Amino acid sequence: MSGNRTFTMLKPDAIENGHMGKIIDMIIQAGFSIKAMKFTRLTEEQAKKFYEVHAERPFYGELVEYMTSGPIVAAILEKDNAVADFRALIGATDPAEAAEGTIRKYYAESKGRNAVHGSDSDENAAIEGKFHFNDSEIF
Ligand code: UDP
Ligand code: MG
Repeated sequence: MSGNRTFTMLKPDAIENGHMGKIIDMIIQAGFSIKAMKFTRLTEEQAKKFYEVHAERPFYGELVEYMTSGPIVAAILEKDNAVADFRALIGATDPAEAAEGTIRKYYAESKGRNAVHGSDSDENAAIEGKFHFNDSEIF
């Protein structure tokens, strides 16, 4: 099956809290196929670069510190309408506002420590996927 692609990270709180397996299962059960996956840890430089668009926001320093605080899972996912469907599966940034049944509703601790990242456009999905994976690591 081919379709559109999106990029995700299971963030340090999700790994720390033991939710990695359950979140990956939700992603697969929702119809996404995994095209690349890596258990890794972001360097400060990588986290700063990844969240560059938020550099002027008051939470940027804390976000970089949190995203480098422990291992993450980075992955490229494929499904029809992948970007929008994945954003629907993860729910609103703030778990207090996330819909029932979403990953953030179940597993996010707070607006900052919110368990999972999802790309916000096809263009960013491609940029973010390339940021983490070489062509030879993508299936
Ligand atoms: N974030 C935060 N405080 C905020 C808004 C965002 O700590 O007030 C963090 C949070 O981890 C979020 C990330 O910055 O996931 C990127 O923010 P964005 O607005 O792009 O949210 P997302 O696209 O992840 O839902
Ligand atoms: Mg975003």
